[in-house]
Amino acid sequence: MSGAPRAADAFRGLEEKLSRMVRIPTVCGTPRYAIARYRETLRELFPHVFSSAEETPVGEALLLRIPGTSDRLPYLLSGHMDVVDAREEAWSVPPFSGELRDGRVWGRGAQDMKGAQCALLEALDRLLARGFHPSRAVWLYLSCDEEIGGPTTARAAAWLRERGVRFEAVIDEGGVIGENFWGKLPGRCAMIGVAEKGSLEYRFTARAAGGHASNPPPDTAIVRLARLVADLEENAGVVFRHALSPGAARVLRAAGQALPAPERDELEEALADASGDFARLRRFLPQDAPLLLGATIAFTEMDAGTAFNVLPEKAVLTANVRPSDVQGERELTALLTERARRYGVECALAGGADASPYADPDCPAFRLLAETARAVFGELPAVPFLLAGGTDSKHFLSLAENALRFSPILGGQGQGGGVHGTDEFITFESLWGAAAFYTALLSAL
Ligand SMILES: [Zn+2]
Repeated sequence: MSGAPRAADAFRGLEEKLSRMVRIPTVCGTPRYAIARYRETLRELFPHVFSSAEETPVGEALLLRIPGTSDRLPYLLSGHMDVVDAREEAWSVPPFSGELRDGRVWGRGAQDMKGAQCALLEALDRLLARGFHPSRAVWLYLSCDEEIGGPTTARAAAWLRERGVRFEAVIDEGGVIGENFWGKLPGRCAMIGVAEKGSLEYRFTARAAGGHASNPPPDTAIVRLARLVADLEENAGVVFRHALSPGAARVLRAAGQALPAPERDELEEALADASGDFARLRRFLPQDAPLLLGATIAFTEMDAGTAFNVLPEKAVLTANVRPSDVQGERELTALLTERARRYGVECALAGGADASPYADPDCPAFRLLAETARAVFGELPAVPFLLAGGTDSKHFLSLAENALRFSPILGGQGQGGGVHGTDEFITFESLWGAAAFYTALLSAL
């Protein structure tokens, strides 16, 4: 980015606070989960937030409510305190050092998502210190286990539901200030996630008599699993129905408005041609079309056998299916169960969630995020997109008119290994810019 926006200059020095946050490891489910210390540090770093807010602890997570001056529907700003682990030996700096070097804060969580959390809390803290009263209530949700699917968030959502709390919008992580969207939109843009794919976990189990490997019968447990895998790879297009849902078509059209004229026309033509397997759309968006058009399957874990020369009595294969809004869990489970049965394999759903519905890319919350990004970062288009991964916002969908996924930090080229990668960092300018964004956003709610 060529120079931070001027409003961002007010936040010089904020990197020191982020460095402290990064230095406290918050890897859920491991000994490196100092979540209580992290929460206490937030309290110390952002005192006005905590003295102004009504607090509701939910497990290790926190719901905070800043009262508003009107009874307009509140906003919920959701962000997680936990991070994924880091393989120390792969990093060039210790991942929980919060080192400040070369204009960057280094460490796990710098981008995902302690950076944005630090920027939001600082913006709100300074506004409250100046006597700010938001025109509507603002809720913050500080999640404690997002990286393992957010089980606590389901409880927080239930608590809100019991009290009849509803939101104009939920804003969570997901999109960023990106570059070269789809490889077709030169320059920067605000990428705002308007939907996310689901994530379902399936266990395929093959049972057999076992025995010595010196005299193998046909169709051992592993062979049957292998046949099933080959079949699902080969026939993914049959099992997983592909279609362009009205929500997906609407979002593609809205994103297309930001494209240069020739690409915009090409996209329109691709969308008009819904025949066959959407070949034109696949050519136009080789990366994104398969995600938009339907579910994908990936085989992720295997468990079988006890020794190299013993036939397993049981072999279990785990698959991660990522549905779109074209096919839901019930239909997918029925199809996969039927397919597995052909090979004498059992199929069981182990958990997960369906895809979210698409938020309206023209809703007031989307326009507010887009206008705020333009005001703070300069002229840049806002593009709606489908998130391939999942966020905590999935738990809040029934409580909000719309859920949007956007953190005002820089992503893409030049931003390092990034989210869940090695040598994660955020530049000071990106952090300051995010704080300027949240200041403008909170003031305009
Ligand atoms: Zn995250």
